[in-house]
Amino acid sequence: MTTAVDNPNAEIKIVRDATCTFCGCVCDDIDLKVEGHTITEAKQACVLGKAWFLNHEIEEGPSCLIDGQPASFEDAIQRAADILCNAKYPQVYGLSDSPCEAQRKAVAIADWIGGNIDTTTSVCHGPSGMAFQGVGEVTCTLGEVANRGDMIMFWGSNPAESHPRHFTKYSLMPKGLFVPNGRKDRTCVLVDVRKTKSAKAADIFIQIKPRKDFEALWTLRALARDLPLDEEQVERETGVPLSTWDDLMQRMKAAKFGAIFFGMGLTMTRGKHCNSEALLALTRDMNTHTRFIAKPNRGHGNVTGADNVVAWRTGYPFGVNLSRGYPRFNPGEYTTADTLGRGEADAALIIASDPLANFPQAAREHLASIPFIALDPKDTPTTKAAAVSFKVATYGINTGGTVYRMDDVPIPLRPAFESPHPSDFKVLNELEKRVRQIKAADFQ
Ligand code: SF4
Repeated sequence: MTTAVDNPNAEIKIVRDATCTFCGCVCDDIDLKVEGHTITEAKQACVLGKAWFLNHEIEEGPSCLIDGQPASFEDAIQRAADILCNAKYPQVYGLSDSPCEAQRKAVAIADWIGGNIDTTTSVCHGPSGMAFQGVGEVTCTLGEVANRGDMIMFWGSNPAESHPRHFTKYSLMPKGLFVPNGRKDRTCVLVDVRKTKSAKAADIFIQIKPRKDFEALWTLRALARDLPLDEEQVERETGVPLSTWDDLMQRMKAAKFGAIFFGMGLTMTRGKHCNSEALLALTRDMNTHTRFIAKPNRGHGNVTGADNVVAWRTGYPFGVNLSRGYPRFNPGEYTTADTLGRGEADAALIIASDPLANFPQAAREHLASIPFIALDPKDTPTTKAAAVSFKVATYGINTGGTVYRMDDVPIPLRPAFESPHPSDFKVLNELEKRVRQIKAADFQ
């Protein structure tokens, strides 16, 4: 790669209000200084965002490989379409690091081939996706939290490390219309099983027993309704005295606008979707006293977009089967780690995700044994083992499109410079066209 230091004559440009897609905060106020094909400054970005922009390199080498050998774009599309169209039970997975326009094409492909469409939500906030279907969601934008929120709670979430600008841009520090003094007008509470870095930012830290989130949330639900509770039992079950929960509930009821942000510390521990349901139900209960909302703190840059796109197209956010011509939702049955782990899927399309690096062993072994297609800006264990692999441009840095912030607000991308590799939209668009032609010919 040629750097600005190597090439002092590189064109310099400033991209204002670029969007960082490293985490679900999707900060859209980043000013980039671009010298040729290198980003040399990323103003306003946090430490993770700076690393995302400043370490960005376009990987060299061919854009398309078939069985590890360089291939033309057309041949790669043809082979990928043949694999998917010949499969009996194909799986489409990933999506959370692609723009919505590409995600939409992936859903269309899954529909044409009668496969399963699933996103990385199934291994992070999938339990919350199930809980939203069951309980509903009292919600708002992060802008409302910044302007109104005076009681900010985090449950099983550590934004100081995972979403570094969450506190400063949205939830704790901003001076808003109804919180003119910013941090001074807010109470911050952190509930977790261990004292994370975020605890330093909180006024109150409540350390609950591991795997007891459900019991703790139902204690609060009971207090919200003024139901009598047994002191000894509450402390035994939650690890926290009843008086602490009571004090918290009084503060929650006294707030003008409360927000609970929850993370995988809640959704991926014992209870899973029951925990998310309990938190969403508590939020609903609190609205008999004051205004309260709940939001999951989402990790990947466009995982919220993936939920939205799959939901607009199928009615469900992830783990959807399209083999009968209509959508069926069943996490555990149609989710990727499960169809691979049970040895059911016979082909796969993996988009911007690396299951061969992070899935359970049985799923990894099965994926390695079936033909699959992978799209990623980087070489990964998954792209290296793929029958067809496409090296694609990085969304947000090299390509435009739309992403959804964690509060479901769509944000446009402002790319810094072009990549020699195709966008994932281009690959999926061409693949969908080819799949459609093959399927149309099958019907004639
Ligand atoms: S908080 Fe997230 S989106 Fe914002 S700059 Fe940091 S990594 Fe990027």
